[in-house]
Amino acid sequence: MALGEFDLIRKYFTRPSRSAAHVVLGVGDDCALLQPASGMQWAISCDMLVEGRHFLSTVRPERLGHKALAVNLSDLAACGARPVAFTLALALPRADEVFLAGLAQGLFDLADRHGIELVGGDTTAGPLNLCLTVFGEVPPGQALRRDGARPGDALWVSHAIGGGLGDARLALEVFRGQLSLEAEDFDAVRLAMEMPQPRVALGLGLRGLASAAIDLSDGLVGDLGQILRRSGVGAAIEVENLPISPVLARQPRALQLEFALAGGDDYELLFTAAAAAESLLLSAAAATGVALRRIGRIEAAPGLRLLDSRGCELTIALRGFDHFSA
Ligand code: ADP
Ligand code: MG
Repeated sequence: MALGEFDLIRKYFTRPSRSAAHVVLGVGDDCALLQPASGMQWAISCDMLVEGRHFLSTVRPERLGHKALAVNLSDLAACGARPVAFTLALALPRADEVFLAGLAQGLFDLADRHGIELVGGDTTAGPLNLCLTVFGEVPPGQALRRDGARPGDALWVSHAIGGGLGDARLALEVFRGQLSLEAEDFDAVRLAMEMPQPRVALGLGLRGLASAAIDLSDGLVGDLGQILRRSGVGAAIEVENLPISPVLARQPRALQLEFALAGGDDYELLFTAAAAAESLLLSAAAATGVALRRIGRIEAAPGLRLLDSRGCELTIALRGFDHFSA
């Protein structure tokens, strides 16, 4: 690399510490030293983004930096954890400074919005690949998990006000040349695909209210399947209640349902809660500027049923987005 590895790390990925309460030692030593607040547990998650698989080479580096951190923060949100710090392992084909400056900008803009700090990483030459690990904290016993859904619980999903599920998949299909959209519509769904907003504040608000939670990365049906398996329950989804954006709503109904149910890359929170929690949930969401939709219920009998507006069962062939079969 023209720019040496250490110069690159110093120039783009080293900043003065800003959360001294948690970060005793950041970038520059053999290890970072983190101090959890007294009595808290660490919530730790790691997500890798590979060019061509998780992002397209056409993405602007600012948006790539944003998304790489956003998808990791989404996992902390799904656990109800408060983000503290992250590491970045980066493989780069070349030390392209325009790319690096943009990437760092996108990463740090989002990091600053959540008050978290980059504390270390690794940098190497190789095919473009970003692997982040995020560290968050949560009071013992309060993490939202996948295994707590109970029969009778309501099933909820978050969405952007004016947005819905399936928009990122719609954008991906435009990039793949399978569909075309008006420029304005494409910009809107492209933003959903490239700039997902992790629902961190909502996740914190769901502590003590949600019985189970997961973030939507692989598609609603596949991700809900994880909650159902871990909790030993089934569910029914009323498809009329799925949140669909005005842009996706202009597509044929079958495609709307396919993308909302199994599109992937939504980064919304899917969770279950006792029916009595409804008004508390709605005020928690309102306080964070995110919309919630009740889309179904948890049932004792295993399996997932999709219901139409009259309560009749629909058969739609779907599967979650699986990297080894898609
Ligand atoms: P080591 O060889 O001991 O693993 P490195 O030489 O790889 O350390 O890295 C030097 C320092 O820079 C370490 O503190 C490491 O955490 C940090 N670092 C390396 N790459 C990155 C990166 N992409 N982002 C943030 N910190 C990094
Ligand atoms: Mg190293």
